[in-house]
Amino acid sequence: MREVSFTAPAPAGIGIMSIGVPAGSGIECDVRLESVIEGVLVSGTARVRLEGECSRCLDPISDELEVDLQELYVYPETDARGRIVASDAEEDDEQRYVVDDHVDLEPLLRDAVVLDLPLAPVCRDDCPGLCSQCGARLADDPEHHHDVFDPRWAALGGLLGADADAPTDEKEEG
Ligand SMILES: [Zn+2]
Ligand SMILES: [Zn+2]
Repeated sequence: MREVSFTAPAPAGIGIMSIGVPAGSGIECDVRLESVIEGVLVSGTARVRLEGECSRCLDPISDELEVDLQELYVYPETDARGRIVASDAEEDDEQRYVVDDHVDLEPLLRDAVVLDLPLAPVCRDDCPGLCSQCGARLADDPEHHHDVFDPRWAALGGLLGADADAPTDEKEEG
């Protein structure tokens, strides 16, 4: 059993459209490599930097993410001459192998990070986003509104107005 900690530069393209790990940023890995009969069991954590864009207001987001890594890398089957032979297991794309005494953590990390990313990242939980009519940032201007008369809303506006004027406690009136 061996424990290793290291920082490696992030490969390009870990992420989804709105948020991801900047290429070249440091990925801090703490992993444990355990020798088992079938191969090497890898477990540990990786900390990555995230950069993206708020899905509501489009402001830049910087964040950090820690993901768990856990995977069994199996020794590939070899023939009498030590050459790797194709096995049934190779049809399983998810199966990872020990290759030349190395385990490639990149695909494992890539999957772990992408699975943990928010599909719609926000700069803050209550980000009000942008005005649907003019695109103004509502966080800068909470009172922002447009006096646009739309007949489809007129009836609803009437209802809201009536509600506001109605007594909240009818018993009070007697
Ligand atoms: Zn936002
Ligand atoms: Zn507006």
